[in-house]
Amino acid sequence: MSSAATIARRSTADARPSVERSIRLFGLPIADTTIPQATLWLVQQARQGRTTSVAFLNAHCVNVAYTRPEYRHAMTSMDRVYADGVGVRIAAQWAGIELQDNVNGTDLFPVLCEEAAHAGVGMFFLGASQGIAAAAADRMQARTPGLQIRGTHHGYIADPAAEERAIAQINASGAGILLVAMGVPSQELWIARNRHRIQVPVVIGVGGLFDYYSGRIPRAPAPLRKAGLEWAWRLAQEPRRLARRYLLGNIEFLARLAWLRLTAPAALN
Ligand code: UDP
Repeated sequence: MSSAATIARRSTADARPSVERSIRLFGLPIADTTIPQATLWLVQQARQGRTTSVAFLNAHCVNVAYTRPEYRHAMTSMDRVYADGVGVRIAAQWAGIELQDNVNGTDLFPVLCEEAAHAGVGMFFLGASQGIAAAAADRMQARTPGLQIRGTHHGYIADPAAEERAIAQINASGAGILLVAMGVPSQELWIARNRHRIQVPVVIGVGGLFDYYSGRIPRAPAPLRKAGLEWAWRLAQEPRRLARRYLLGNIEFLARLAWLRLTAPAALN
């Protein structure tokens, strides 16, 4: 086992049971837990064949939830929504809650691959540009002994016939966990629309992480991530695409937080 694998296995092995608790933020139900605990639960759901839909909520997602009711609705239909990033941590603190962990898809992903490999649960990667999910699958299989990636498909599905074919490929794969990486809100809307015809038990909306794990985009250095500044790194990598989301979006998020706290603190929960 590689040292990364040992660390990941140790981190899930250290997970204490019953650590998860249900809270509410911005009117959405959130599972406050840790990455190891969430990972163990997801793999267990897959092994037991339990239909489970999962998403992550960060500051950008909160902004989208206030402007796109169909996204908010999709989020309320998830079995678990995890709290991702420094913005949501601050919001929780303002609501009197100290979150246990930053449960974001990008950090959870390698731990999940480790645990799935250990449990013999296969995975399917759906999303990103042509070839990126396949490249991420190759890299993860190279660094995770025993990991079974049962199939990959890009995330630019043009029409209902292509969607039908992609879902048939996913259902025939025998995977226990499907990662959907089409960005927010597309992936959550895709999951909500198609969940009833996907036979893979655990379906998780994970954002742009195949771009990182394929090597297409470098991830923020650890000190920036620890300081809650991964968004600034991402902005520097893709300024044209992300300027609105992060520069205006962060202001919008903080303004909303301050406004809710002043006028309707109950709405923070
Ligand atoms: N994407 C996709 N299909 C689409 C639009 C986007 O698969 O129709 C992919 C895109 O290639 C990228 C990811 O979705 O890999 C979105 O990344 P982003 O960083 O915006 O996601 P986030 O993690 O911030 O939600």
